[in-house]
Amino acid sequence: MNSATVDDVLRIYGLENWGAGYFSINRNGHLAVHPEKEDARTADVYELVRELIDQRKLAPPFLLRFPQILGAQLRRLCLAYESAAKQFEYTGGHFPVFPMKVNPRREVVEEFLREGKRQAVGVECGSKAELYAALSLEQPPDSLLVCNGFKDETFLRLALLGVQSGKRVVIVIEKLNELKLALKLAEETGALPWIGLRAKLYSKGSGKWASSGGESAKFGLTTSEILECVRLLRAANKLGSLKLLHFHIGSQITDVKRVKNAMKEAARVYAKIRQMQIEVEYLDIGGGLGVDYDGSKTTFEGSVNYSIEEFANNVVYTIKSVCDDEQVPHPHLVTESGRVMTAYHTLFVTEIRDEIETFADDIPMAAVDDDDPQVIYELKSLLDGVNSKNYREYYHDALDQKDELHTQFNLGLVSLEDRAKGEVLFWEICAKASQLAHQADADEPEFDELKRILAAKYLCNFSVFRSAPDSFAINQLFPIMPIHRLNELPTDFATLADVTCDSDGCIDHFVDLKDVKQVLELHKFNDQQPYFVALFLTGAYQEVMGSFHNLFGQPTEAQVVIDAGGRYHLTKLITGSRIGDMLNFAKYDKQQCLENFQRQIAAQVVGGRLDQAHAESAMKQYEQSVNGSTYLE
Ligand SMILES: *Cc1c(COP(=O)(O)O)cnc(C)c1O
Repeated sequence: MNSATVDDVLRIYGLENWGAGYFSINRNGHLAVHPEKEDARTADVYELVRELIDQRKLAPPFLLRFPQILGAQLRRLCLAYESAAKQFEYTGGHFPVFPMKVNPRREVVEEFLREGKRQAVGVECGSKAELYAALSLEQPPDSLLVCNGFKDETFLRLALLGVQSGKRVVIVIEKLNELKLALKLAEETGALPWIGLRAKLYSKGSGKWASSGGESAKFGLTTSEILECVRLLRAANKLGSLKLLHFHIGSQITDVKRVKNAMKEAARVYAKIRQMQIEVEYLDIGGGLGVDYDGSKTTFEGSVNYSIEEFANNVVYTIKSVCDDEQVPHPHLVTESGRVMTAYHTLFVTEIRDEIETFADDIPMAAVDDDDPQVIYELKSLLDGVNSKNYREYYHDALDQKDELHTQFNLGLVSLEDRAKGEVLFWEICAKASQLAHQADADEPEFDELKRILAAKYLCNFSVFRSAPDSFAINQLFPIMPIHRLNELPTDFATLADVTCDSDGCIDHFVDLKDVKQVLELHKFNDQQPYFVALFLTGAYQEVMGSFHNLFGQPTEAQVVIDAGGRYHLTKLITGSRIGDMLNFAKYDKQQCLENFQRQIAAQVVGGRLDQAHAESAMKQYEQSVNGSTYLE
């Protein structure tokens, strides 16, 4: 294999910048996944996909889940806090909890709990359904079950059931009324939950979720509310159950400076409470540890300017300094990192099905002749004359002539055939001008835009709304690249269109070290050879926030484990949604559908518009389709 080519391909897609050591290109030019950072063992993703299709007879799109990466990320997080504690002589412990809202799948939560036995890894939940699921899971002793979010009586009662079942439940108070109700119910049931207080910090995070912190944040208690909680607890003789102080200044904090500021403020609040002779032992610093989606290590919203280790160092050092200054004990640190724990562990793979071209250059067209209108003539001579010196001017002239063409068409002066001829000439001029601008290395916004317009749209068998909703909703960037042909330079520029009937169902912004790319380098598509691409870092938030737009359902899911010998095993397969599943979702009844369709067919037969044989085969086909995939097959 030509290693120069692979170096170029690595540079184009940047997987060494954003991959955190979990991805590489193997000898066959295929994407490889490592179960652990820079582990020599790998799974060949192309082979895996071929096995799913050829042997297991499954069809893309596929969600590939690598649970080992969850464990590896958790170990990285724990090690980072452990080393920081050692380095700065921090005497408190570290209690990670997994925030379920990031990825509530049982496989994911259980993997953390299994992996985190030694570390007393717990769970954080923010709703009754999450709490209900959490109550069923076996947690390591001493690990916490943190209840956040707005709570009603049922939520609080569920939390108390957790206490009764022997779990270390912390009810984090978001509103004063919650505390009053919690105290009443605890009295009634005799269960003794731990109480946490969520503080509203003045400090804000940075990036997209900065408004989760600061004075106008949705969650948390103001300083006077915190003091009122203390008063209520004291009055109820329950001050001893106040164990934890919590804050969360927003997800994906891009700038480590903001982390330090928030920690300073939070540690002071903790110290002042501690000095009131209240033995709060845990400081819960929330989530916010971000993922470097574009690999640029900057404060750009899709990036972060720190590593996990730097984040942990800053947290531990800052809290230690404040506590030493205030002469209070170092609290145990509770961390609620979810995004960075889960983002890397899934890979969404699908195939390019077709190419949607801006203009079809393969349809034969009549030559320009003397009978053609003047405007066609003008366009033809622009096309013949465009060169490296005049491409800018000729391109502008072509824009004028195209307007002229459409004006004349609307006045009835130009035929449909001539309009087609004129449009093709116009796009040919554009393609030439764009190529000349590229050769001249001209950094001109209008030609960047032209390149984007001329870029092919690759029709990709998936739904953005189901599998990468943040791409549509908040313009989140996800790294995307092919999983094979990586020993071959990509020569096309394309954007991706999904199979939904929604023009927002496309991806036209891609990761880049210095910028955001508007087109992605891809290999020339041909319909003889299947071409597969993967979306990376989709393991956080995407699965649970994906919607059923257009009734495309779940992709087929495969769980992959790599053994000590470096062989991969498919440890779980979950077939993707069938048409019937989506009928249920939209409240159709399968039997009713069949009966209604049958009635319409029967009416056609009675009316003599359909014979019996065709009617029977139509019925059979309709009935069988319900078991088919919602995606293109
Ligand atoms: C969403 C959330 C988290 C997870 O944050 P990440 O940035 O994904 O790690 C943690 N704690 C609370 C309270 C949250 O709302």
